[in-house]
Amino acid sequence: MENKFDLLILGSGSTAFAAALRAAELGKTAAMTEMRTLGGTCVNRGCLPSKNLIEAARIVWESAHPRYKGLTPAKMNFDFGELNAQKQEVVRSYRDKKYQSLVYEEDKIKVFEGKAELLDAHTVRVGGSILSGDQILVATGTRPTIPKIEGLDQVSYLTSDLLTTGEIQELKELPESMIIIGAGYIALELGQMFQRFGTRVTIVERSQVILPTYEPEVSDALTFALRQEGLKIVTEAQVIRVAQKSDNEIEVTARIGGKEQAFTAQKLLVATGREPNTNDIGLDKVGVQVDERGYVKVNDELQTNIPNIWAAGDVIGSQTNSQPATPVGAHDGVIVAKNALAGAHQKVDHRVIPRTIFTDPQVAVVGQTDEEVVGSGLRCWCGTIPLELVPRAGATHQTNGIAKIVIDRDTQEVKGVSLVMPNAGEVIHEAAMAMRFHAKLEDYIDMIHVYPTMAEALKIAAISYFKDPAKLSCCAE
Ligand SMILES: Cc1cc2nc3c(=O)[nH]c(=O)nc-3n(C[C@H](O)[C@H](O)[C@H](O)COP(=O)(O)OP(=O)(O)OC[C@H]3O[C@@H](n4cnc5c(N)ncnc54)[C@H](O)[C@@H]3O)c2cc1C
Repeated sequence: MENKFDLLILGSGSTAFAAALRAAELGKTAAMTEMRTLGGTCVNRGCLPSKNLIEAARIVWESAHPRYKGLTPAKMNFDFGELNAQKQEVVRSYRDKKYQSLVYEEDKIKVFEGKAELLDAHTVRVGGSILSGDQILVATGTRPTIPKIEGLDQVSYLTSDLLTTGEIQELKELPESMIIIGAGYIALELGQMFQRFGTRVTIVERSQVILPTYEPEVSDALTFALRQEGLKIVTEAQVIRVAQKSDNEIEVTARIGGKEQAFTAQKLLVATGREPNTNDIGLDKVGVQVDERGYVKVNDELQTNIPNIWAAGDVIGSQTNSQPATPVGAHDGVIVAKNALAGAHQKVDHRVIPRTIFTDPQVAVVGQTDEEVVGSGLRCWCGTIPLELVPRAGATHQTNGIAKIVIDRDTQEVKGVSLVMPNAGEVIHEAAMAMRFHAKLEDYIDMIHVYPTMAEALKIAAISYFKDPAKLSCCAE
């Protein structure tokens, strides 16, 4: 039967692709389904377009704000339309190379366009086709959450989908001003990017701080850096109403300290988190269990309560201590293919997942926070150093930031690292690899680090357990 597959996948994002490719390597057939654009969120409207434009904004910003005395600020002219067009080209070319061509070259993998819905534990309807799968993988990802705010359904607003190509929300012109509701990683990355391009950005957040689940030192350091660039960050502000004042003006009213305060801007970006694409895909018909927020429940082999149905990627939320990030989904998609098709019984290992927020300075974290380590009942020690103590940071005038290291005081094992610094997303891999092998504080100190690098921050933070890190010789000895 033409529409019968060994592995039938709902979705075509990074998770789905990794699973389909591994299925083909195992000599099995696979089908993916997609109701938007092949490749999913990361390549089309997430990681790739955002990182492309964030870097362009950095170049514009740095030329206007040189860090060195002796360099004259220069206003770089730019054309947002052309920047957008090159972004689309990068997305298209990457999608062709890393997604589309892989499917065309592989006769064991098919793609069906349309919204997929489970009819029973082995059958999926997509568009006009009925597909049958021996094993099923749910990899439908997430979509922006739209909070219930009075008036929101009456105004035109943006979500992180503004980075798409060819879809209705694509932002083609640079706004003069923007209010962003939310202060998670997407809000901060895009907020700084727009501010650097010249948009006046106001971030309105209901928590006490930005990034409330991160270490407080991280929130503080990043808040300082962003405010220095002119971003307006308003915290403890509960948005209660929005209204379209004119074609070019949206008013957002928030309650702050018991009083109402109104903010106006040309555009509104709602970045209040994401929710799983699970509500209307037939999971209830088949009896697949989801948690209270709609994320698919899985065991540590990524199997749902229905034995031939599996789930991975963003759609499982924090089940099995997972994190919503592309490499996690891709890694776990492979595990599903091996478990579902080859009986591998491989368990996921989500103990060490390094993560990065691509602001400037970047934020990168791995492992647990101070509070989490204490909460797990361990005796904890943490060392935080300001970036001023890192020779590289001083040499290049990039001293905004911190490095924090959290250890189990009894075993000296490093349990978590948080960094706010240029290239934190690269440096964090040292800590991640070290955590994989349960490295202790002494390992960070003993290892010779390249001088002068940002990675020395890890060594200096570790040394601060024993002595004053301000009194070290040049190479942190
Ligand atoms: C602005 C932004 C920036 C990001 N930056 C990064 C980053 O720098 N690094 C990083 O690691 N992660 C980043 N992410 C997160 C990353 O994009 C996701 O973690 C990743 O895409 C998840 O992959 P997935 O395959 O699980 O789901 P997705 O990529 O979301 O794929 C799921 C696909 O399923 C489709 N679908 C849903 N329901 C159905 C249905 N019923 N029928 C058919 N198709 C369906 C969807 O249209 C979607 O294309 C970013 C996300 C955003 C929004």
